Amino acid sequence: MHGLMQDWPLTVDKILDHARNWHGDREIVSRSVEGPIVRTTYAEVHGRAKRLSSALKTLGVKPGDRCATLAWNTARHIEAWYGIMGIGAVCHTLNPRLFAEQLCYIINHAEDRVIFTDLTFLPVLLEHRAKMPTVKHVVVLTDEAHMDPAAYPGALCYETLIAAASPECVWGDFDENTAAALCYTSGTTGNPKGVLYSHRSNFIHTLVTMGKDVMGISATDTVLPVVPMFHANAWGLAFSCSAVGAKLVMPGQKLDGQSVYELLESEAVTFSAAVPTVWQMLLGHMRENKLGLSTLKRVVIGGSAVPEALVRAFRDDYGVSVTHAWGMTETSPLGTLATPSGKTMHLDDEAQLRFTLKQGRPPVGIELKLVDDAGERLPHDGTTFGRLMVKGPFVVGEYFKGDGGDILDDEGFFDTGDVATIDEHGFMQITDRAKDVIKSGGEWISTIEIENLAVGHPKAALAAVIGAAHPKWDERPVLLVKLQPGVESSKEEFLSFLEGKIAKWWTPDDVVFVDDIPLGATGKIDKKLIRERMKGYVLPTAKAKETA
Ligand code: ADP
Repeated sequence: MHGLMQDWPLTVDKILDHARNWHGDREIVSRSVEGPIVRTTYAEVHGRAKRLSSALKTLGVKPGDRCATLAWNTARHIEAWYGIMGIGAVCHTLNPRLFAEQLCYIINHAEDRVIFTDLTFLPVLLEHRAKMPTVKHVVVLTDEAHMDPAAYPGALCYETLIAAASPECVWGDFDENTAAALCYTSGTTGNPKGVLYSHRSNFIHTLVTMGKDVMGISATDTVLPVVPMFHANAWGLAFSCSAVGAKLVMPGQKLDGQSVYELLESEAVTFSAAVPTVWQMLLGHMRENKLGLSTLKRVVIGGSAVPEALVRAFRDDYGVSVTHAWGMTETSPLGTLATPSGKTMHLDDEAQLRFTLKQGRPPVGIELKLVDDAGERLPHDGTTFGRLMVKGPFVVGEYFKGDGGDILDDEGFFDTGDVATIDEHGFMQITDRAKDVIKSGGEWISTIEIENLAVGHPKAALAAVIGAAHPKWDERPVLLVKLQPGVESSKEEFLSFLEGKIAKWWTPDDVVFVDDIPLGATGKIDKKLIRERMKGYVLPTAKAKETA
C-alpha cells in the first residue's frame, strides 16, 4: 500500500525558491574576482539565476546537457549552479587546481557544452580551447567593463547575457532522480572518475547536513565557506545555507590567512568550513599579528585529518569549537562528523578531545561497515583496522559512463579506499588511504597519526610519512618534515618528540628534512609524488642490515 501524501519531487531549485520566499533580503557577500566586496541577496540571486536559465535555453542548452563552472566561491557561481540545475541541465564543477591536461580530459569526458569561467582561468581555458570540441560557449563571469573582447574572442560576458534574458523561466517540473551535478574525483590513481549527483541525492544531503549534529547551521548564522564549490560541492553549503537562510560570505580567490581573517571579522562570521591547511594559515596570521576572533563560534574541518595542535589552538586560544568531518566526492561529500554523542558529552575536555580528533559518527542516511580483504565484517572495537565501506541515498552507485565498472559489494556498499577503525561509541577514525598504509612485519602503521603528531612540533610546517623498503620488516616508516622558515632541527629532536605518543614500533626509522611537501589539487599531501621523489632513498636501518 502506498502512502497518500503529496508528490513533491525533491529538486534543488525549490531550495532557492524557499530562500527567496522566506529569507529574500538575507545577504550574500562576495569578495569579487575583480576586487571589491559585492553585496547581494537571496532574492536577487534567485532572479538572476532565473535569467541565466532563460539565457541557457536560448543558447540551446537542453535537459541533461553538461554546463561546467571553473570558478571561485562567489554569488555569481551560486547563480550559475541554480540556473543550470533549475532547468534539468547538469552543473559540472571543474577544479582549477588540476593540470590543463587533466582539465581537458574531464571536459571531454563530460562532453561539456558550456563553460562558465572566472577571469582568472580564461587565459588557460582559451589556450586549450581547440582541445575541447564539445564546448560551444565560454561565458566569463564578469561584466563588460572587465571584458576585453579582443583578448577573449568568442567568449560571452555573463552580465550582458543575463541582462538580455527573460526573468521568466520554469524550474523543476521533472523527476527528482534527474542528474543535477557532476564532480570528478581528483584521480590520484588512474583517470579522474565522474560522480553524478541527482536532485534527490543533493536534496537529501542538504536536509541531513542541516542537522545539529552535522553542520548545524541556522538562519541566525553567517557562514564563510572557504571550502571551494569546485571541490566536493563546498560540503553542500551553497544548498544548506540557502535552505536555512544563513548569511553567506563568499571568499572569491583570496584564501590566504589575512584575507580569510578580514572577512571573518568584517562580516561577523559565526561558522566556517575548510581543509586544515587553510586554518593553519589563518592561525599563523593571527599569531604573527596578535589578533583575536570576535564572532566566530564553530569551524568544520575535513578533507584531511585535523592535527591535534589545531583543535587545541582554536579551543584554548580563540574559544572556537572545531568539528572534524570526513567525506569524499563520492559521498556528496559529508560522511561522518565528530560531534559529541550521548555517551561522550559528559567527558571532560581532554577526554572529549580524543573523540574530536577522530573523523566521527555517521548521520542518518549513511551506513558504514569495516571489512577485511575478503569482505568479511570486522568488529567495532576501536583497534581493528579495516576497509571503510559506505552506503546511502547520497553515496555514489556507479561512476559516470560506467567507469570503473561495478563499484558496489554484494550488500551495496561502496569501498571508500580508506582504512579505518570504529570504536564502541561509533566514532570512526581514518588510519590511512589503503594505498598509503605501511605494513611493517605484517602489522599496519597509520601514517596519518604519525604525521599529525609530528606537525604539532613547533618547528614543523608540514609533515608526511611514507613507507620505505626494509629487508626484515618489508616496510618501515620514514618521516619527511618541512620546517618553519629559518629554523633548524635534527632527527633526534623529532624522534624524541614522538616518543611516548605512539607505539615504539611505529617510530620512524628515519627523519628527512625537505624543502617542499607537495600538495595535490584537493589540498591533500601528494604521497604518489613524494614516493617518486624518494625513489632512490634507502633506509639507514636497511643499509646497516645490508652491510651487517
Ligand atoms: P579526492 O578527489 O582527492 O579523493 P575527496 O575530497 O573526494 O578528494 O577525498 C576524499 C578522501 O579524503 C577520503 O577518502 C579520505 O581519504 C580523505 N579525507 C577526507 N576527510 C578526511 C579526514 N577528516 N581525515 C582524513 N582523511 C580525510
